[in-house]
Amino acid sequence: MPDGTTDLPVSALRRDLAAAYRLIALEGMDDSIYTHISARLPDGPDGEKRFLLNPYGLRFDEVTASNLVTVDETGAVIDDPYGSGVNAAGFTIHSAVHMARHDAVCVLHTHTVAGVALSSVREGLLPLNQWSAQFHNRIAFHDYEGIALDLAERDRIVDDLGRKYVMFLRNHGVLVLGRSVGEAVTYAMNLERSCQAQIA
Ligand SMILES: [Zn+2]
Repeated sequence: MPDGTTDLPVSALRRDLAAAYRLIALEGMDDSIYTHISARLPDGPDGEKRFLLNPYGLRFDEVTASNLVTVDETGAVIDDPYGSGVNAAGFTIHSAVHMARHDAVCVLHTHTVAGVALSSVREGLLPLNQWSAQFHNRIAFHDYEGIALDLAERDRIVDDLGRKYVMFLRNHGVLVLGRSVGEAVTYAMNLERSCQAQIA
């Protein structure tokens, strides 16, 4: 995946990210208030990585461009319109990727039934159809360590991901990276169809 850019105005990035939450909900790929989609913001004054994340406690269909929470790589909350904070495990996973992969504007994580199912079998996704062929030899794997509350797991997430843009979180779900929010959503939907087709 070539380098991405964040030359979109922040207001447009917020709208794109909110739209991603709604699309994932419309496709039935959400998991109540869990899982996350993040978008990288311009770095903070000391070069710290900043990103937008969903307010903890809202369903995906309740996320809007204006209620997204801004956090930095240390976990400091920069802007939180509802005062709801963010999910700690989501912060661990998404901050790890944003700190290491500056080519990724968007990181999208889901717990769909099909994605969790194939993350739970040794073979993972097989190149059985047109959707899945695009992911052949392009999928990383990260072993399950329990709910991701230990920030030390960030190093292992980054090591396991390498330069790939799709990762199966074993026994847990999937993670995709995009150079734009739209690209991440497209990968996520293609990956979901791939998983569904394999299971079918
Ligand atoms: Zn998860």
